Amino acid sequence: VTGARGRLEFARSRGSVQEMGPTNVSTAAKCSIKKALVHSHALRWARRFAPACVAILMYHSVLEEPELYADLMGRETSHSAAVFRQQMEVIARHFTPIALADVLLFLRGERTLPARAVMVTFDDGYRDNVQVAAPVLNGLGIPAVIYLTAGLMGTCEVPWYCRVRRAFTATRANFWREPVRGDSWGLQSSADRARAAQVVWNRCSAQSSGERCDTVRNLEEDLGVQPPTLSEPLMMSWSEARSLHRMGHQLGSHSLTHPNLAHVSEAEARWELMESKRVLESNLGISVEHFSYPHPALNPNWNVRTLRLSQEAGYQTAVTTVSRVVRAGANPLALCRIRPGRSLSEFLWNVDYSFLGRAV
Ligand SMILES: [Zn+2]
Repeated sequence: VTGARGRLEFARSRGSVQEMGPTNVSTAAKCSIKKALVHSHALRWARRFAPACVAILMYHSVLEEPELYADLMGRETSHSAAVFRQQMEVIARHFTPIALADVLLFLRGERTLPARAVMVTFDDGYRDNVQVAAPVLNGLGIPAVIYLTAGLMGTCEVPWYCRVRRAFTATRANFWREPVRGDSWGLQSSADRARAAQVVWNRCSAQSSGERCDTVRNLEEDLGVQPPTLSEPLMMSWSEARSLHRMGHQLGSHSLTHPNLAHVSEAEARWELMESKRVLESNLGISVEHFSYPHPALNPNWNVRTLRLSQEAGYQTAVTTVSRVVRAGANPLALCRIRPGRSLSEFLWNVDYSFLGRAV
């Protein structure tokens, strides 16, 4: 893992809880149609007639060997360094990478957007953003926005949603008794484990940070799993974050403890927005005016109340996980983002298709 990530000191067992979804014939047919369209450049031609917009890409973790960390990170949130490099090279060559300041000026009507405008963002604040992603971005001159989970910065803690995933992956238990309703959940297959983990993710997403700590600790105890320990931190340090800022990347907040802001109490949501801003600003020595709404589980992950609280907390922009491009007239506190896909062809499909105004 080239020192990008601390070695996990626990035995890995069984498959990831994220392993789901058999491939069927219609999915295969759709894939070949997608590939044919991508290679024919038909989408790129069609896009020339679409109104000005920017595709904001949503990344999380970039690892040399993501498979080694699938039990902890899941397969959806990590990109391999090789695929990430390919995607960034395509952005540098065939698109126009822009900064958040450009997006804000565009939304205020003070600047037009270049053709094929793309903005790169990262959620959560993983240390690999500095060690693996930043050298690629810097080499290609691509500015990024990195949204940091303020409460995890500079700690050796593992995010709670990773602990839940890993507890259900590592346990040797055959079933789990859900503590509130008393339901019994089988843990035979990876799909069983994913369903049980979803129950806990949903509950934790709406809890206060104190309640969530207890839920995760009790879960690990019930499943007979030790809390994960890392020899190197998973999340970046304050000095690493400051170095990203010096490199020209923008830093924003991704809350204090990563709840779903639309499902926690109003007081809790306000605290997450305001206290994360205060903690980041005092440790980074910069003004933090941009936010990314966490989406650990449950839908939606933002609502009218979230927008009001974000504005009251003093944020100028905020990004969501809704899959659309951003066009003129968009609310700066509810900017949609595009999933970059797991491969180069999926990336090209997602970006080109979204430029046509489609959800991907
Ligand atoms: Zn997140």
